Amino acid sequence: MKRKITSKMFDLKLFVSVSKEFLKALLRGHTYNIRENGYVIFGILWGIPVPIVTIGMALYCSGLSPSAETVVNEIVKHPVHLFFLLHPFIFGTVFGAMGTVRDDKERQKEKFEKSLIQNNKMLADANKKLQELDGLKDNFLSMVSHELKTPLTTIQGYITFLKDGKAGDLSEGQWRALKITEEQADYLNNLIGELVDLSRIESGEFSVKLEPTDLTRIAAKVINSLARPFAEKSIITENSLPEKLPLVLADPKRMSQVFTNLLENAVKFTPPGGKITVSACEKEEKVEFCISDTGIGIPGEEIGKIFDRFYQIDSMVERKYGGCGLGLTIIKNIIELHKEGRIWVESEPGRGSRFFFELGKSGELKGKELEKEIGYQTKERSKV
Ligand code: ADP
Repeated sequence: MKRKITSKMFDLKLFVSVSKEFLKALLRGHTYNIRENGYVIFGILWGIPVPIVTIGMALYCSGLSPSAETVVNEIVKHPVHLFFLLHPFIFGTVFGAMGTVRDDKERQKEKFEKSLIQNNKMLADANKKLQELDGLKDNFLSMVSHELKTPLTTIQGYITFLKDGKAGDLSEGQWRALKITEEQADYLNNLIGELVDLSRIESGEFSVKLEPTDLTRIAAKVINSLARPFAEKSIITENSLPEKLPLVLADPKRMSQVFTNLLENAVKFTPPGGKITVSACEKEEKVEFCISDTGIGIPGEEIGKIFDRFYQIDSMVERKYGGCGLGLTIIKNIIELHKEGRIWVESEPGRGSRFFFELGKSGELKGKELEKEIGYQTKERSKV
């Protein structure tokens, strides 16, 4: 049977490269430099016993005592001894070459270590700089969102002031203008709200206040509040939530934000005449909610990215849909702050999307256990 030569038994490539290194070292002065290369002396010392032993044994076998004359005679009689006499030089050369190769390797190692230390230092410096910039960005985000919020609150206050007729009666044209101003102010308010949430998530100050919550009621309220956008696009809304669903441990305000965001997205990405369904089902220890639409759907390769901050599938400047790609990031954070909260999506382009989330039932927890879970859950400082 033919035996296969494996790389463990004989590595031809390694053999060739080692041989090349050795031959190159033979051509270098360092290989023969006794002062710089201690290996040469070591080799010579190893080689000296060879002629002594061979000539000594030859003399002993011939019954001759060792002297300069008998040694010379023996060498003349058997010139093969010349080869043994050369052994200290051969050993010196071989060991010297090995020393040269070893010195080269050491030098390469030192160089590599030095560059590694230098690169590490550069990386640490860059990291420090990035952290500083990150802190600056966090401060900037928090400062800008708060600074934008203040004048906007004033604008919204004056809109209400005008709507209430406190500045006198408004003409039909003024009403229309006021309505558009109000819609745009609300849109801005939502965007600023998302920026504030993002800055809180990034600084670790984002929190939810958990309590036993009836999500059926919250979902119904949100569906009603969005009646106008549904009607404007002739979208049919189906509330398929079961009448009796167990309470879940949740933050009612934040869950209202979750439903609003998912339903607003469903309206945004569903063409006129489509359908949006809100449903839920009870699982062992959790309740699962689903918001499905018959909209444009999401390509498979994008599904993993849509929860990333600022990510939008259509991010062209002249994109068709508004928003800034923060809604899903925020609601993912909200859901994950809840006990065992999880959110995911199933979708296919042209065949609509189904956003699912599940939360733990509060009914399972009693007395002390429930007390422990109720209250604030804060997110650690994180990069979303
Ligand atoms: P925004 O809607 O403000 O752009 P989101 O974080 O809410 O930001 O959504 C991120 C992206 O996910 C959207 O820009 C869109 O590309 C995709 N997306 C979200 N919901 C849907 C949906 N129901 N149908 C299709 N695509 C969606």
